[in-house]
Amino acid sequence: MNLSVKGPGLLLWIVIGAVLAVGFGSFFPEAALRTELLGVLFLNALKMMVLPLIITSIIVGVMSLGDVRRLGALGVKTFLYYMVTTGLSVAVGIGLVLILQPGVGFSAFGGPLPEAVRAEGVYSIVDVLTGLIHPNLVQAAVELKILPIIFASILFGTAFTMLGEQKSIVEQFFSACNEAVMKIVHGIMYFAPLGIFGLIASRLGSTGGGGAVWDLVVQLGKYAGTVVTGLTIHGLLVLPLILYLFSGKNPGRYFLHLAKALLTAFATASSSSTLPLTLECVTEEARVSNRTAGFVLPLGATINMDGTALYEAVAAIFIAQSYGISLGGGELVVIFLTATLAAIGAAGIPEAGLVTMVLVLQSVGLPVEGIGMILAVDWLLDRCRTTVNVWGDAVGAAVVDHLEGTEG
Ligand code: ASP
Repeated sequence: MNLSVKGPGLLLWIVIGAVLAVGFGSFFPEAALRTELLGVLFLNALKMMVLPLIITSIIVGVMSLGDVRRLGALGVKTFLYYMVTTGLSVAVGIGLVLILQPGVGFSAFGGPLPEAVRAEGVYSIVDVLTGLIHPNLVQAAVELKILPIIFASILFGTAFTMLGEQKSIVEQFFSACNEAVMKIVHGIMYFAPLGIFGLIASRLGSTGGGGAVWDLVVQLGKYAGTVVTGLTIHGLLVLPLILYLFSGKNPGRYFLHLAKALLTAFATASSSSTLPLTLECVTEEARVSNRTAGFVLPLGATINMDGTALYEAVAAIFIAQSYGISLGGGELVVIFLTATLAAIGAAGIPEAGLVTMVLVLQSVGLPVEGIGMILAVDWLLDRCRTTVNVWGDAVGAAVVDHLEGTEG
């Protein structure tokens, strides 16, 4: 069997790993718990590569632009794409939750607030903005706060282009580092079938197997169904249409190229941890230029989260419905805006969206305790929205690359 990273062989093994994991975790939950080590090793290997990858790929990407003005043009296109698609996904979510009304008749009970939400306290728009510049880059790196690292990498990349003679030395150095990083990612990918197996099986096992997951889904079925339907519409209709219209690429083929990254996103529930594979798939398989992908994907993994934005809006309105609070047009607009901001502010790590949802709820005076209600299914929805987040970034890379005229 063809086992090259680029061919279908490895993908097939990853799919087999994921399917076996669902079966194993559903029927043998206790034994499945013991597969956790496989998942943790895979996840740690990916996380290990995130910082070197972001720093080198952004510096190389920005330097290959050559000129600060071109960085501006690339930046504007990228932000426009992020904003338009995130806005569309929130609109899909709000439309669906208003039509399906999953919260009406659902007896509201505020469960305990998750630890992460309690620890965060108030989360405001100011937090989103100040998250961009961190006084201590090492601390930001330790806490895996990606945005300040991206910001600093863009600054350094830009400064390096102004160096005159020394510029080419720096450029060669970072290109070599970037290539070395990608080689390691390449190697880690061979471990993906086992890693994904471990991540999914042990998660199902810790919930108590297939029966317990099914009970959860039934209990919060209308809410979970609304989120998943919204994600499906956005991921399988809206984004493919945008991909086709603005890059001319065949969405089905592009989806297949991205399949390894998307399955990893589902297994890890983390856009940042998936980033090494997203970059690999987008540049190696879908042949988007390194220059564009190196800029659009790392940034997208932290700020472009279509799935999270959609989920934030649906969850907030679901909470309002189940408390019997009716929301006016103005409040819906506020939810639209804050859901977008909350998605931008959410880190690309598991359950980050749950924390930033405080911003959405507080902006329209909804009870934060409502988060306790949706907690039980969040780990599952997190995986679904992360997959759409990564898919949105990948589509963005292709679209911006086409608009920049740099595709391979
Ligand atoms: N887990 C998501 C991600 O990494 C963020 C979220 O919690 O919505 O993309």
